[in-house]
Amino acid sequence: MSESKKLTVLGIGAHPSDAFPGIGGTLAKHANRGDNVILLSVTYGIHVHTERLRDKSVEEIKDIVREESTEAAKILGVNDYRFLDFDDSPLVATKESLIEVGKVIQDTRPDIVISVHYPFKEAERGHDHGVTARMIDRAPVWRHPDVDAPHRAKTIYYSTMDFIGGLNYPMPTPPDIFVDITDTMEQKIEACIASWGSIAGGFDPEKYAEDSRIEHRFFGRIVGVEYAEPYESVRGQRAVEYLTP
Ligand SMILES: [Zn+2]
Repeated sequence: MSESKKLTVLGIGAHPSDAFPGIGGTLAKHANRGDNVILLSVTYGIHVHTERLRDKSVEEIKDIVREESTEAAKILGVNDYRFLDFDDSPLVATKESLIEVGKVIQDTRPDIVISVHYPFKEAERGHDHGVTARMIDRAPVWRHPDVDAPHRAKTIYYSTMDFIGGLNYPMPTPPDIFVDITDTMEQKIEACIASWGSIAGGFDPEKYAEDSRIEHRFFGRIVGVEYAEPYESVRGQRAVEYLTP
């Protein structure tokens, strides 16, 4: 792929606020280089990350979460944030919900999908996260009635950031790709605070910013940059001209 080719990038997460701490720096980099970046949350996260909205109705929570996360995405340069309305905590992948995720992939036709979550994150709140990650490659991408062609992304990247928050199942392999987010670290922090600040219980913006810099500096140190976001990649089968480093 040439450096100048513009990509379509689809980020998929379980709850509307998840994308920002997980993959925010990477999304901002893609948006900054002119790629078409789309975000999808498969739930509104009614029952998780929304402790400050407990006195609201479900419809009110949806409106607030949609608005705040849509605005937070704009800080990253992402202007297309989509939402599916599956119930959360627990999120249960059904035939119908998998078809819906497949329709979004067919509709947006991404070159790459970035999963906000790692497929083996299971415990506690992370359960929805692991389910969402597994929905991505289970979703049938040939059933959209209005789109002629099936669509499979060339590569799925799974963020391994979830493991910072509790290593509950062993990772079979360590992260193999790190995106240098030094240039977008502050954008990411700003988006996280915009998304989490008024909905999540016990969220302290200053402490969050400090902790986030420490986390990403740790990953950056592994690969010799200041700040990085970690991923594992799964590539689909394809023909190539030759092997590259
Ligand atoms: Zn979440």
